Amino acid sequence: MADDNPSLIERNSKCGRVSSARLVYLEAMGIQVWVRRACQPQTPVITSLSAAPIVAARSKSEQQVETQVKVSPIGKDHVVSVASMDWETLRERVSECTLCELHKTRTQTVFGVGDREADWLFIGEAPGADEDRQGEPFVGRAGQLLNNIIRAIGLSREKVYIANILKCRPPKNRDPQPKESLACRPYLRRQIELLSPKIIIALGRVAAQNLLQTDTPIGKMRGRNYIYEDSDIPVIVTYHPAYLLRSPREKRKAWQDLQRALKFVN
Ligand code: SF4
Repeated sequence: MADDNPSLIERNSKCGRVSSARLVYLEAMGIQVWVRRACQPQTPVITSLSAAPIVAARSKSEQQVETQVKVSPIGKDHVVSVASMDWETLRERVSECTLCELHKTRTQTVFGVGDREADWLFIGEAPGADEDRQGEPFVGRAGQLLNNIIRAIGLSREKVYIANILKCRPPKNRDPQPKESLACRPYLRRQIELLSPKIIIALGRVAAQNLLQTDTPIGKMRGRNYIYEDSDIPVIVTYHPAYLLRSPREKRKAWQDLQRALKFVN
């Protein structure tokens, strides 16, 4: 069960055991910070992990490749060759990719950013206008909030990896179409294989549904424990930072999700 009161992060200014920087980030997330006399632990309080069963959202990757080859215009050769690429070859292939119509309207591809040894992988939906211009995911206001979220769990943007379901911006920020997600999927799958993170955070409905190959509403996905494909990598579903900017009251729920993620990693 998720914690009903997850926002309790305590501090004591005399002890200074909870870093002031983290408090700033927590408060920026909308997480209430209480002051107590007693010194408190430096790390956020982690409550019990959800009792929800692990949900294997997809079947074996070999079967997925077969399925993908059947329904996708990209072909088996592409899927197989991407599956053996190293980071630089993969980045180069993505930068030249014309497998779906989005290549016609992009300024540049948005491959992903961060530490290639990271334990944490954050996956969003697709580049927006700022990301398309700068070639980096989550650089606008939503990106600033994501940075605060990452700092609130004691990390930095440079210490995690951030990627999207799609590497190219859909016009007018529309949802990715199934054929676009399908065409782009081998790239993200290879990134995940190369990274081998301890946890994946799916940011928002589109990311979660594409990553886990489901049409379950995000409200029902939050609080459940998923694994990615046939790996043992847990996937935590939470709200997209852009949604949290529009609905700041939901930040508390996002913090619940991150606490569950911390429990997995730790
Ligand atoms: Fe290629 Fe993905 Fe860009 Fe489509 S969105 S052109 S599949 S890199």
